Amino acid sequence: MSELVIKNLHVSIEGKEILKGLDLTVKQGETHALMGPNGTGKSTLAYTLMGHPSYTVTSGEIWFKDKNIIEMPVDERSRLGLFLAFQYPVAIPGVTVANFLRTAINARRRAENPQDKGINILEFRNMLKEKMEMLKMDNAFAGRYLNDGFSGGEKKRAEILQMAALKPEIAILDETDSGLDIDALRIVADGVNALTGPQLGALVITHYQRLLNYIKPQFVHIMLDGRVVESGGPDLALHLEEQGYDWVREKYEEEKTSIR
Ligand code: ADP
Ligand code: MG
Repeated sequence: MSELVIKNLHVSIEGKEILKGLDLTVKQGETHALMGPNGTGKSTLAYTLMGHPSYTVTSGEIWFKDKNIIEMPVDERSRLGLFLAFQYPVAIPGVTVANFLRTAINARRRAENPQDKGINILEFRNMLKEKMEMLKMDNAFAGRYLNDGFSGGEKKRAEILQMAALKPEIAILDETDSGLDIDALRIVADGVNALTGPQLGALVITHYQRLLNYIKPQFVHIMLDGRVVESGGPDLALHLEEQGYDWVREKYEEEKTSIR
């Protein structure tokens, strides 16, 4: 069983410390929600886990499948089974969704076996068709340029389609709900729900509780000021919806002063 273990992680960007001793473990088969106010470092964590070069790990550990991945390049992390759905996916004019996915799948296969001829075109089409049906996506979607002129909902669906095609073991979804109306939110959540299960561990990052009406996590974590300060079950998210973040902030401030 795959496991992502983060221990006492400290991360800086341009010399400014953003993550300040973050601990978190996500196992295959589990769905975790990571919540927190804007600017607490949720996206920083997501990018760091995936290996974005702008984020410097100054101390701490990240283990995935019993390997320390801190020095591992992005493509290797991906091949090992990590996936990140971006908060702000970039457009790639000229590259269709289908081409992009086929290239990604083939790059993986060739990394494992340089002699690989690439995925059979019929096999690829059938796979893509099946995944797109599961995500209730129109066939024409595959022929459009990736994220080029996509609505917010389409961009997020394209991210989930990539996730379905690449079959990661641990997926990080960074604010997959941001910018979505309620219909799009439901479609994206249905897609995520169709993919979660014993084969997938998910870290669902969200600012709002509303996504958790559709995606049911077993574990909920609250992040403040670069750390996970509170963990619990689904009721923690409901509590947040009713009470906001103030009580966590107060509790956290008290703990900090009592340590001093
Ligand atoms: P969240 O996703 O929780 O809203 P972020 O991880 O995006 O938080 O940001 C955390 C902090 O890091 C913020 O104070 C933000 O201004 C800062 N930050 C994020 N990205 C950069 C960057 N590329 N350069 C400088 N500061 C950044
Ligand atoms: Mg963010």
